[in-house]
Amino acid sequence: MSGMAANETTTSSLTSAGIEDKRNASSSLAPLKASSITYSFTKSPKQVPAPDDPAIKASNITSDHMVTCRWTETNGWETPELKPFGPFSIMPTASVLHYATECFEGMKLYRGHDGQLRLFRPDLNCKRFLVSSLRIALPGFDPEEVLKLIVELCAIDGPKWLPKDRPGSFLYIRPTMIATDPALGVHTPREALFYAMLCVFPTMDSNVGGMKLLASRDDMVRAWPGGFGYAKVGANYGPSLLAQGEAKKRNCDQILWLFGEDYKVTEAGASNFFVIWKTKDGKTQLITAPLSDKLILDGVTRRSVLELTKERLAGGVQREQSEGGALEPLEIVERYFTMSEVVEAADEGRLVEAFGAGTAFFVSQVSSVTWKDREIKVPVLDKGYALLIKGWLGGIMYGKERHDWGYVVQEKEAKA
Ligand SMILES: *Cc1c(COP(=O)(O)O)cnc(C)c1O
Repeated sequence: MSGMAANETTTSSLTSAGIEDKRNASSSLAPLKASSITYSFTKSPKQVPAPDDPAIKASNITSDHMVTCRWTETNGWETPELKPFGPFSIMPTASVLHYATECFEGMKLYRGHDGQLRLFRPDLNCKRFLVSSLRIALPGFDPEEVLKLIVELCAIDGPKWLPKDRPGSFLYIRPTMIATDPALGVHTPREALFYAMLCVFPTMDSNVGGMKLLASRDDMVRAWPGGFGYAKVGANYGPSLLAQGEAKKRNCDQILWLFGEDYKVTEAGASNFFVIWKTKDGKTQLITAPLSDKLILDGVTRRSVLELTKERLAGGVQREQSEGGALEPLEIVERYFTMSEVVEAADEGRLVEAFGAGTAFFVSQVSSVTWKDREIKVPVLDKGYALLIKGWLGGIMYGKERHDWGYVVQEKEAKA
């Protein structure tokens, strides 16, 4: 967006304007066309695990089918296919295996309390998928066509894998793009494969007592100006797993990534990070890192939190004492803040709450941040802002509140 005041939020920057599809521009290559999809249904349908099946924790259960579509530099997009979920073969020389030419998305399919299947703002994920794909030299596509393919998979596998008698459940959707070029030469990919699958995932937002974050070490950064922190590419993840492992070892749940000599707070592993504090002049403020220099990921959950809080919390909340009492108006700010500011706020008793926000972790309250051997405690409130916001978002996702952000998937008869 142009002409934006410094303090204004940047939440609408994720539009297809400004995305230049260099790889498919002005070409006569075939565009991705969802309506030409072909179907081959599985002959060995799987069993849907019970909600308490321990196998769910392993996150390796997928539904019966996947959608795929191949792209080549010479022909463009081929016919998309819906087919049984299963392995595919690529050459050991494939670009993705050597040069991390990969990007992905993370979405969820929700079984609503009203019986309907919904996606949450899936158009934003598909646009971001395009941004990521172009950043890593993978092909361009019309995000709406990718959305249609994802919806088709959800429409076919959703009814069986999210039965109507399990309202409040979800599947995790993983759209992926990889370069499959079977040549080791270092060049922009000449072949690519889009695929999407549905995974049975554990709930990750019910961390008892709140998430514990470990601030990143001085000698590790996740992203840097001019880099690709804003893109959802595998290349951002592999190198961060070492730090994630250290967090686990130190009894923490996720890394909080800091940046720069002044220890700017950016985001947590796979979720954006929010702090609610009292400012020195007594205002209650919701603060999160900005998108401006493309260090952090433009999270759909982040954006939704900012939009909802502006709409519903800028004027505070009137509640009965029995419901937790009134909440002060929130000032909503996107700017960098530093660990010293967090420490100072903690020392002065000004920290109100903190939470991570992302599709996988949803809204997860944070109970502590460990930085330089100091554990900074953060209040975890039962009736605070975080759970109120979480409740609103959940209400939209699971159809308790009718809202534009809920995208209803029309279910198809299971053919498997
Ligand atoms: C996916 C992701 C998020 C969360 O984005 P959502 O769109 O809200 O799911 C945040 N940070 C990083 C680094 C991510 O990869």
